[in-house]
This record gives sequence, C-alpha cells and structure tokens, in this order.
Amino acid sequence: MITLGLDIGSVAAKGVLLAPNDSWRVVVPTGWSPRDTGQQLIDELTRLAGLERHDVDAIVATGYGRISVPDADKSVTEITCHAKGLTHLLPQVRTVIDIGGQDSKVIRLNESGRVIDFAMNDKCAAGTGRFLQVMAQVLGMDVSDLADAEDPSETVSINSMCTVFAESEIIGHLAQGMSRGGLIAGLHQSVAKRVAGMAARIGVVGPVAFTGGVAKNSGISRALEEELKAPLLTPGDCQFTGALGAALLARNL
Ligand code: ADP
Repeated sequence: MITLGLDIGSVAAKGVLLAPNDSWRVVVPTGWSPRDTGQQLIDELTRLAGLERHDVDAIVATGYGRISVPDADKSVTEITCHAKGLTHLLPQVRTVIDIGGQDSKVIRLNESGRVIDFAMNDKCAAGTGRFLQVMAQVLGMDVSDLADAEDPSETVSINSMCTVFAESEIIGHLAQGMSRGGLIAGLHQSVAKRVAGMAARIGVVGPVAFTGGVAKNSGISRALEEELKAPLLTPGDCQFTGALGAALLARNL
C-alpha cells in the first residue's frame, strides 16, 4: 500500500510518502495558502518517488491546515498523529514533548501507545518556535544558529514571558552590552521553563521524547533536560513525527 501523510503546520508543512519498501520526506514553508502548500507536497513527494497521484492509495492530513487540503481522504488531530508517529519510532516512550512553530504539546502515552492525557499551549507564542524566531531576528541571526551560539555559563534570565515584552528586554540587554551567547541561553531557558511547567500539570513519566521543529535546537534540549531533570530522546526526523503518523494512519483507510 502507498500512503501519504501531510502535516500542515503554522510555520512548516511536512509530508511523508510511505511505500512498502521505501519512504520519502519533504518540508516546505507553509506560506499563506495551506491548500496550495498541501498540493505542493503531494506533487513533490510523488515526483521524488517516481509515482503518479493515482498510485497513492490514501492521504491523511494533520496540523493547523489539515482541513484545507481537498485531496486528503481524512483529517486527523495532531495529538493522534504525533502519538502514532512517535510510537512507531520510539515505542518505549511514555511522554512526548512537541514544540512547533505556534504551539507546544505534552502527550502522555500508555504501554500500547494510546494517548492517556495531553496538554497544549496554543494561545500564546511564549514557549514556541515563533518566540525563538522573533528573538533570533532581534539578535540578527537565523533560528538554526541559536544552539551553536548559546553560552549557558553566562545565562541571562529573561523575565518577560510575553514575546513582545521579551523582545524589548533583549533589546535593552543588548544595549547594556550583555553577551549574546548568554542571552540566547536565557531564551532557551525561558522556553524550557514554560514547557516544563505545562508538562508538570499532566506529569512526566519516562522515557521522554522531544519532537517538533524546535527539537532541532540542541540548546532547547539541554535546557529542557535541566528543567525536567530527565534525559530526552530525539528521533532523527523529529520534525516529521506528525506527518509520519498521518501516513501510518492512512494505511487503515
Ligand atoms: P509547525 O508544525 O507549527 O509549523 P514545526 O514543528 O515545523 O512547527 O517547527 C517549526 C519551528 O521549528 C520554527 O518556528 C523554528 O523555531 C524551529 N526550527 C525549524 N528548523 C530549525 C532548525 N534547523 N534549527 C532550530 N530550530 C528550527
């Protein structure tokens, strides 16, 4: 069976095509039209796999833009798709922390990989990838360079939770000549504290996995491990967990 999973996120759209003996992955910026982006992923994935659209048996869409993909056979919530993808990659995991562009989630799983509880922050940019993108811009760098540039030995605590106030706080600290590496470590600590607080509400049971685009930032992993006092497992394709779960769920259609 050939299936396709699409995770149309707020920042990045991810697609996974699963064939019996092979798989393909594509990530593109979501842009302003989730509908066009979904179509772009389908076209790109089938092209890479040397297939036609009619060769694909089923498509499941997830993420913010999941209802905007007319070609999808079904849309499924992000929590279900992330749990499915993660259980496939790391079946031993009991807690998943996923930090994306516009929300962060904590998902508790039982031994069979079923979701037993979850918490989600989707009302505020604090504790999300968007917060880091805004701060990276203020610091004149790309979000992918934050981890290498941090200096945890000089961590400057960021007091403002709100993204707008935190931006002013960073500008003020830069004007006072504080080290950029210390400020970045402080931003990582701020995101980690916020997410760890949310995780504490539903309880963290190990082993714990860290997924989502923000899991590519090893500075956030470090800070989260400090806050949770637990090691984190990060799957190699951490940003594709939801899309993989969607492609796996499509096999049941
Ligand atoms: P969404 O599904 O909401 O679009 P993702 O899980 O795709 O979110 O994560 C997007 C976030 O991941 C971005 O906001 C950014 O902070 C972070 N990110 C993406 N690529 C990288 C990278 N190479 N290094 C560090 N962070 C990254």
